[in-house]
Amino acid sequence: MITPLSWLERVPTYKDQQAQLKEKDLATYGFLGYPLLQSADILIYRPDFVPVGEDQVAHVEMTREVARRFNNLYGRDPAFAKKVKAALGKLGPAEAREQYTALRRSHQESGTADALSGARKLVQAAGHLEGADRELLLANLEGEHHRLLPAPEVLLTPSPKVPGLDGRKMSKSYGNTIRLTEEPESIDKKVRAMSTDPARVRRTDPGTPEKCPVWDLHKLYSSEETRAWVRQGCTTAGIGCLDCKKPVIERICADATTMRERAAPYLTNPARVREILDAGAKRANAAAESTMQVVRGAMNLLPGASAS
Ligand code: SF4
Repeated sequence: MITPLSWLERVPTYKDQQAQLKEKDLATYGFLGYPLLQSADILIYRPDFVPVGEDQVAHVEMTREVARRFNNLYGRDPAFAKKVKAALGKLGPAEAREQYTALRRSHQESGTADALSGARKLVQAAGHLEGADRELLLANLEGEHHRLLPAPEVLLTPSPKVPGLDGRKMSKSYGNTIRLTEEPESIDKKVRAMSTDPARVRRTDPGTPEKCPVWDLHKLYSSEETRAWVRQGCTTAGIGCLDCKKPVIERICADATTMRERAAPYLTNPARVREILDAGAKRANAAAESTMQVVRGAMNLLPGASAS
């Protein structure tokens, strides 16, 4: 109810899918509201970090906005400034307090991410601070009165983007995926059929790896030595595209074999899978319930609370 429509309309994946999937009717709330559903799934566990791929960074950014908006709407505390002052007094020597104030100002005035992370580190490193004081100082950094819902950061791996077979983002909607447990024959067929640098029309035409989706897979799967071989062979037409694809096919097949082996015991024992899911759901439900207590409390919705 508190998310402006325009935030959802400018999510890049929404615009991207509208451009790419013209034959589908995407003018539905389901497509528009999906990122917000993800935000709810994130915020209900109040995480500090969310491990995502590069294409999800914008979703997490929107989630941060939603958290901040909720905090600003429902986290007002008339005594906030006084409490922050008291907590700041406990942060450490005058030098640390001045550093905190300067970094906060820098972040608020110019949106500097470095200043924000520097100030956060300063607060986190003050091991002597009590939890409530730490929360107050962290909330104060982002101009929030109360950190009811922490605004989470993204956690990216060194390879935050796995391209699809056609070079676009890998997505089931685009039909350009390789499944984690895909069979070798199918992997072989799919990678062989991948398009390459359009400049390499003939075997004798040199190419540019950066213009080729296969190169993206090499960046993910191949050693430096193999990549040097590809670069040299591609730019001089010393190797053909099928030669180039071979090491990638081998690596993906090896990974998929490991995944199939790991999956096998669960495929034959669905009861064990159910058990694992139930145990995880129990832990997740407890965390979610505790967040909902905070949320309902802030919104005056707990049983017995008077409407205001
Ligand atoms: S040689 Fe490799 S990198 Fe170069 S165009 Fe062919 S598949 Fe792509």
